[in-house]
Amino acid sequence: MEIKPLIKRFDIFKPFPRIIHGFSTRKGGVSNPPFDQCNLGLRTGDLPSAVEQNRRLFFTELGVPQQQIVFPEQVHSDRIKIVDAPGIVPQCDALITARPGLFLSVQTADCFPVFIYDDQNEAAAIVHSGWRGSAKNIVGKTVSLLKTRFHSSPENLFVAVGPGVQKQCYQIDPETARYFPESFLSPDGADHFKLNLQGVILRQLADEGIPEANIEYDSDCTHCNAELYYSYRRDGNKSGRMMGVIGIRQKT
Ligand SMILES: [Zn+2]
Repeated sequence: MEIKPLIKRFDIFKPFPRIIHGFSTRKGGVSNPPFDQCNLGLRTGDLPSAVEQNRRLFFTELGVPQQQIVFPEQVHSDRIKIVDAPGIVPQCDALITARPGLFLSVQTADCFPVFIYDDQNEAAAIVHSGWRGSAKNIVGKTVSLLKTRFHSSPENLFVAVGPGVQKQCYQIDPETARYFPESFLSPDGADHFKLNLQGVILRQLADEGIPEANIEYDSDCTHCNAELYYSYRRDGNKSGRMMGVIGIRQKT
């Protein structure tokens, strides 16, 4: 069994050698079933020693020092923190930094990880956007904060929306559906809907003026692809977590 973590990277960031980024998969790592293999979430039923080993493997493969990572607590809010020090940041779901050598993370299992880089002002951001955060437009608010605090212009922002639960697998009830425009809902039986959450996020980015050419999205569905991804909707408490990371390399 290969223990080197398989990490996804996005082509949109290829032109920028100062960016380090990646999104983990289940492949690689040392966790046993049902958390196999590369579970990076400590708040799961997995053995902490296995998760810690997976994190060491993941950060090593990514090329970032673990003591320079920022971990948001993730409470399905629309709260965004501007950070310049590593560690756990309570009560927020998005992080922004302009400090080279600091790396922002989010953990997901169906929710969408969103990676943002401002090429002109050298600022990076990461967002955890599930349905609650998306209903509050956390992605749009993060872009908006980049504009006001970091003078970001939309045409200099480059964005990757990672894999998450896609519309064919995302059944929601009418209560949840109320938060979303009809164009992102399709009827599913008598009283349910299917939600195109990635579509909602892409619209929020477009509404902030980010050109389509600056946005990459991963169409993979975490719910159907059990080999590559954890899915909370599929596996509940037996689900591990993937991790997305982005940061700006220190000048040498
Ligand atoms: Zn699916």
